[in-house]
Amino acid sequence: MTTVGFVGLGIMGAPMASHLLAAGHRVVGFDVHRPAVDRLAATGLVPADRVADAARSADIVITMLPDHPQVEQVAFGADGILATARPGTLFIDMSTIRPETSVAVARAAADQGIQVLDAPVSGGEVGAKQATLSIMVGGGEPDVAAARPLFELLGRTVVHVGGHGAGQVVKAANQLVVAGILALVSEAIVLLEGSGVDAKAGLDVLAGGLAANRVLELKRESMVAREFRPGFRIDLHHKDMGIVLAAGRQAGVALPVAGLVAQLVAAGRAMGHGGLDHSALLTVVEQLSGRAT
Ligand code: NAD
Repeated sequence: MTTVGFVGLGIMGAPMASHLLAAGHRVVGFDVHRPAVDRLAATGLVPADRVADAARSADIVITMLPDHPQVEQVAFGADGILATARPGTLFIDMSTIRPETSVAVARAAADQGIQVLDAPVSGGEVGAKQATLSIMVGGGEPDVAAARPLFELLGRTVVHVGGHGAGQVVKAANQLVVAGILALVSEAIVLLEGSGVDAKAGLDVLAGGLAANRVLELKRESMVAREFRPGFRIDLHHKDMGIVLAAGRQAGVALPVAGLVAQLVAAGRAMGHGGLDHSALLTVVEQLSGRAT
């Protein structure tokens, strides 16, 4: 049995912490939103009032937070993980954040004798609930090996992709490809409908040929029906496209299509669709053709 400190018990963190509890681990949980802690306390989670209470007694601390400012606060705060966890603790950040923050946290933690992994996930709320996440891990091999039994309680695909920050770079690439495909599927729908061709029939054919992809497989019906209940919100994808562009700048590479897709996602947010599923990019593409629904 491992004592796991878990910080960030939201849409993703709550089911992930539940899997660790179900496997018999002691989980000490903290979230700034107290009801999130209380819900899991009913199923065996040890409630913590502060980050320090989750970190101090832990063998492994996991964070699942919205973005890099929250990770920095929880890691570097006076009451945070680096200040309060014991030397030898493994700190695994599973949030999606910019790679440079993962590298900075790992460097600072090493000075305290704390090892760090960045381990963002793909698979969404369903993947978190069903423990079928894909987990992309950056950091040192011995730490990945130590964390693997926990990762295998949370996901099906666990890949060590490189050193600190590499997990976040892979996640950024994942988010770029997903947003890009969503934009192209949206354009395909606008083209089909604008030409008087049945979009459902058209996309069914696409899904069986070289254009087949998971977005078409999972989302084509809801997109044609204009059902945009999240899912993965445009607000979060907007954050992720910012990470993609910043990572590209950091790497000194040009990502022209990423720039365009990032602007479409930003437009969706500016139009007030931040709370809708990212497939609502269709609405943005439609408006460009004066075909608002
Ligand atoms: P969420 O907003 O539901 O959960 C985040 C939780 O962190 C909230 O409960 C919030 O109260 C808590 N929190 C915020 N600041 C805190 C702080 N300083 N200390 C303690 N708790 C704090 O978000 P989510 O959907 O669970 O996403 C978490 C991360 O996982 C994000 O980086 C997101 O991009 C990524 N992600 C989400 C999905 C998805 O489908 N939702 C899929 C893959 C990856």
